[in-house]
Amino acid sequence: MSEMITGGCLCGEISFEYTDSPGPAAYCHCTDCRRITGSAFNISVPVSLAFFEIVSGSPKAFTKRADSGHELTRYFCGDCGSPIYVSSPRHPEIVYVKAGAFDDPDLVKPSHQSWTGSVVAWSKIDDDLPGYPKHRPGNRHNWTETWKK
Ligand SMILES: [Zn+2]
Ligand SMILES: [Zn+2]
Repeated sequence: MSEMITGGCLCGEISFEYTDSPGPAAYCHCTDCRRITGSAFNISVPVSLAFFEIVSGSPKAFTKRADSGHELTRYFCGDCGSPIYVSSPRHPEIVYVKAGAFDDPDLVKPSHQSWTGSVVAWSKIDDDLPGYPKHRPGNRHNWTETWKK
């Protein structure tokens, strides 16, 4: 009865399908997640491996012992570099899909955050920051002049 959930990488080489309900999404502020995402934190969604399938491409894998002491294997597109999902021998029945890899962002339902002891100050977007619906207008190459004011 579950509908087909799809996702993949930026270049389109890797795509996946998932046919069960996604689990509760989690923010992770650990230093490994910061490094691998190139951003302030990671958001991952646990899914049941039995219903998760890579349907095109074949992700590269990288295994590293995490801050938790457990080995995690991270799967990513070898062409465009997009992280796709993570597996852990601790939970072999589950993989953790990167929230941004899903085609439908609305299915991501955050439930908690981990490793808050490693939070960086810039992980929260200040409500007072100027915002633009699309690109910031004007000459974006002279940011040094406005930044130093
Ligand atoms: Zn790709
Ligand atoms: Zn993490």
